[in-house]
Amino acid sequence: MLYGYNGKILRVDLSQGVKTVDEPDEAFYRRYIGGRGFISYFLLKELAAGEDALGPKNRLIFAAGPVTGAPIAGSGRNSVGAKSPLTNGYGDAEVGGYWGAEFKHAGYDAIIIEGKSESPVYLWIEDGKVEIKDAKHLWSKTTGECQKLIQEELGDKGVRIAQIGVAGENQVRYSCIVNDLSHAAGRTGMGAVMGAKNLKAIAVRGHQKAVLSDAKAVNSLARWIRDNFKLDKFSAGLSKNGTAGALMGLNRAGGLPTSNFRQGMFDGADKISGEALKSSILVGRRGCYACPIRCKPEVAVGEPYNVDPIYGGPEYETLASLGSNCGIDNLEAIAKGNELCSAYGLDTISTGNSIAFAMECFEQGILTEKDTGGLKLNFGNAQAMVQLVEMIAKREGIGEVLAEGVARAAEVFGRGAENFAMHVKGQELPMHEPRFKQGMGLGYAISPTGADHCHNIHDSFYTRRPFSSRAAQLETLGIFEPLPCQDLSPAKVRMLVYGSQWQHLLNCLVFCYFVQLSPPQIADLIRGITGWDTSLWELMKVGERCVAMTRAFNIREGVTKDNDYLPRRFFVPFTSGPLNGVSIDKGELARAIDTYYAMVGWDKNGVPTLAKLQELGIEWVARV
Ligand code: SF4
Repeated sequence: MLYGYNGKILRVDLSQGVKTVDEPDEAFYRRYIGGRGFISYFLLKELAAGEDALGPKNRLIFAAGPVTGAPIAGSGRNSVGAKSPLTNGYGDAEVGGYWGAEFKHAGYDAIIIEGKSESPVYLWIEDGKVEIKDAKHLWSKTTGECQKLIQEELGDKGVRIAQIGVAGENQVRYSCIVNDLSHAAGRTGMGAVMGAKNLKAIAVRGHQKAVLSDAKAVNSLARWIRDNFKLDKFSAGLSKNGTAGALMGLNRAGGLPTSNFRQGMFDGADKISGEALKSSILVGRRGCYACPIRCKPEVAVGEPYNVDPIYGGPEYETLASLGSNCGIDNLEAIAKGNELCSAYGLDTISTGNSIAFAMECFEQGILTEKDTGGLKLNFGNAQAMVQLVEMIAKREGIGEVLAEGVARAAEVFGRGAENFAMHVKGQELPMHEPRFKQGMGLGYAISPTGADHCHNIHDSFYTRRPFSSRAAQLETLGIFEPLPCQDLSPAKVRMLVYGSQWQHLLNCLVFCYFVQLSPPQIADLIRGITGWDTSLWELMKVGERCVAMTRAFNIREGVTKDNDYLPRRFFVPFTSGPLNGVSIDKGELARAIDTYYAMVGWDKNGVPTLAKLQELGIEWVARV
């Protein structure tokens, strides 16, 4: 018996209107586990090289993992993946909330969607039954309107909905998939892939929980989290201030992206901090399925911005991307920008970067008011930021070009605009300054999805002993020597290799990385859920396998060593603040990239060797 899973993968061909079910064997589940493992497996096996990311042949895959829907904190998550229209390489994003658990309880471990419907549709999955339903009346609705209409139509307010907004309908290359209105599978443009298939939403309702092998062991770990999270500084901080609680510390350290990464300190930081948010617009906290930490904000704002609390509120990445990185210290305007991103289905990180990029182009004279339709796009112009979010989602005016992402927009603008486009492989940078966290910078360069902070390391957690509880996760993997943030030595590369493989594993499980279970506890959890006599060693191999598969996918798509880089700006020193004079050494980064390849068993061109694929038990990857 397969514990912890449903043993079923749903396939929907939207061109044919056909639904089928695969029942893979246990070896498949144990080798690829779930989430990113499933997605990279199916994309390599089923998508031919060079297919258009926005074409009908692309696969859009929603994948749960063994932890999804289990009665323990961190289990409300799922992954969504496809070939990315932003990078033309491997794409996926993870998301929390309640949809993932409800989907798993509805009887499936993943859905693979192919083809394109002739007209807008949504999927309705209820306890194993699947219907393709008309969604013409839902097209062009905001996510809030669409959720209400579907729940009314199905006569059940408990139905959970993952959906695109108008940005996904318009195939904005960094549009996202929103579930439960305030949780976004944000990165790599999965909303555009869904929009290109004319798929507006997936509504799920499920009452059949996957059977656990050892429910007592899982419950005991769940109780341990409940009893201990308030005693742990990291989790307690998250529970109190959310991720926004990190903003002031990063500003003090000189690592808060400001004015399109030109500076690392923002004069208005205290106005957009977690503390400011808490004392002004915060009206509640929300969380994800079965999680007591509840790290998500809910905000309300009156005139002139009128922000609806149904969309949650801005977290750290959004406060920095729509705030400091655009030079904006108006918290209410940032909350409005966040609301619009949720209502229209835009990734706040890429949206903020695109606006900051346009602001720098405007200040440099590359864009003028003629190009912007009269908008004065100076850094700090809060109203212009809010208006640009609308224009990007609707592809209006200059929004049409910015909807393509900064890499493509820079080509259109020309005249040196590429110097202000902060991206890796076409994906815009998260709000972690790579000159401050240099291991993170290396991680940006080699990440399969372009610049990403979620399968990466945060150098600042590891600078002194004892490590913070968050960093102590890596201690059990053999990382126990502190290293400075501005370090790219082989020891730092090793930290990234282990840290990134660990994060890839969490993306396969699919488990929230904010929840403080140590690696040995996670191995206990997987044993309790699945009944497999597994070990931390076997699980780390799952993460490593996934790193190799996502890399192989990119190599096949032509995303190669040449795409492992950082934007030029990060080789130029800061001219003020605590990091005055600090930059990344280009030669040192190149050496660190070579060391990374060698450590993970890739050749000098960054291609996984056949021997490494054989060692990981995935030699079939070399054939496809
Ligand atoms: S820690 Fe936060 S993001 Fe993670 S599961 Fe709990 S509420 Fe969700």
